[in-house]
Amino acid sequence: MIGMKFGGTSVGTAETIRTACGLVKKFIDKKPVVIVSAHNSPTCRMTNTLIASAEEALSGKPDSSKVFELQRGVCKDLGISSDIVEPLLEEYDRLLVGISMIQELSPRTMDLVMSFGERMSSRVFTAVFNKEFGVNAKHADSYDLGLITTPAFGEAQPLNECYPEIKKKVEELGGDCVITTGFIGKGPHGHITTLGRGGSDYSATIFGAAVDAEEVQIWTDVSGVMTADPKLVDGAKSIPELSFMEASELAWYGAKVLHPATMIPAIEHNIPVRVMNTHEPDHPGTVIRSQLEREKAVAKSVAYKKHTNLVTVTSSRMLGSHGFMAKVFEIFNRHKLDIHMIATSEVSISLTIPEGSNLEAATAELKVFGDVDVSSDKALVCLIGEGMAGIKGVARRVCGALSDAGVNIRMISQGARELNISLLVDEKDAAAAVQSLH
Ligand code: ASP
Ligand code: MG
Repeated sequence: MIGMKFGGTSVGTAETIRTACGLVKKFIDKKPVVIVSAHNSPTCRMTNTLIASAEEALSGKPDSSKVFELQRGVCKDLGISSDIVEPLLEEYDRLLVGISMIQELSPRTMDLVMSFGERMSSRVFTAVFNKEFGVNAKHADSYDLGLITTPAFGEAQPLNECYPEIKKKVEELGGDCVITTGFIGKGPHGHITTLGRGGSDYSATIFGAAVDAEEVQIWTDVSGVMTADPKLVDGAKSIPELSFMEASELAWYGAKVLHPATMIPAIEHNIPVRVMNTHEPDHPGTVIRSQLEREKAVAKSVAYKKHTNLVTVTSSRMLGSHGFMAKVFEIFNRHKLDIHMIATSEVSISLTIPEGSNLEAATAELKVFGDVDVSSDKALVCLIGEGMAGIKGVARRVCGALSDAGVNIRMISQGARELNISLLVDEKDAAAAVQSLH
């Protein structure tokens, strides 16, 4: 079996849906499990439209007409009846009225709102595939196929029990292939959850791992994972091969092709992931696996993450004492602050936290230890590649390149695995830093 995931732009219009169906047909002998995102094209940004309509309902204007128009439009363009999505549209209309009446749009309700995109697109995909491609594809929503998650609305995680359950349910459903919803699941109490924006990639590896797929294909609108953001770097190229670790670092550092958690099930179940371009299906894309076949490049990609705060705690109490770091990190943990990069000396700890986190309460507590300094508008820049391990002179070249580009490094960190070198720079220097490193 294989997993095949089609992102929003790969199912954004009638034309791309047909292209995607053609690709599934090509692999039909491998019994694909197909994971579908909500439609996403310049004329139909379904997830965003759902969110906007829910927010308007909260402010007292429940109006489902835009969602109706977009979803019926896709059906019409495909020449299929919208009957398959009408019950969901009606339900959505009632949901908006509910939101406007009770004046509440909690993360739980927002997950329910967003779920309609994938629930509708996966039904449309199945209908066209069966009608035009002469196959017997079966449809089920992911939670009916066993995808049970934590109740962390907006950032749910699959529960371990879901893996054998999914395998069983997919086998029971049968058919030439199974088509299901990306992005969504259900919590233990039966409420719909989402895995976070862009979460269909994560669904793909969850399903792939559950059915023990020989590979998971992520079909998107770029030809694989790139050496840098092509919007910043002219010569950015597709990377033929990445290790699981390299891909995890990259996904995490905001190389937007993959949802950050995508690699977790792939690593745990050792399943190769292939990132392919629906609009250029003959391009080999990027394959991500545990053992690389090709010669290792020293560094493979430069990623960056803007909107970062730098927090420095300076304290003479740290000198020669133990347990100090534990106390500091306990505070961040209690305030649920996500630390991205750390550097320490005998008298200070510097760490980075994404902007938008509420730092105030934590900084007030940290002041007990000494001086606390917070500066904003920073960017993390990260050079990634397992081939850097044991190679002399990499750090010198990195620092030299940044110095030539006139970029000051505020903080630097390289783990002993030598898989990446992470640097913190002023946000205004991020583009120059990425370009010079590339
Ligand atoms: N439709 C969801 C989103 O826009 C999930 C996905 O596309 O992966 O975030
Ligand atoms: Mg995506």
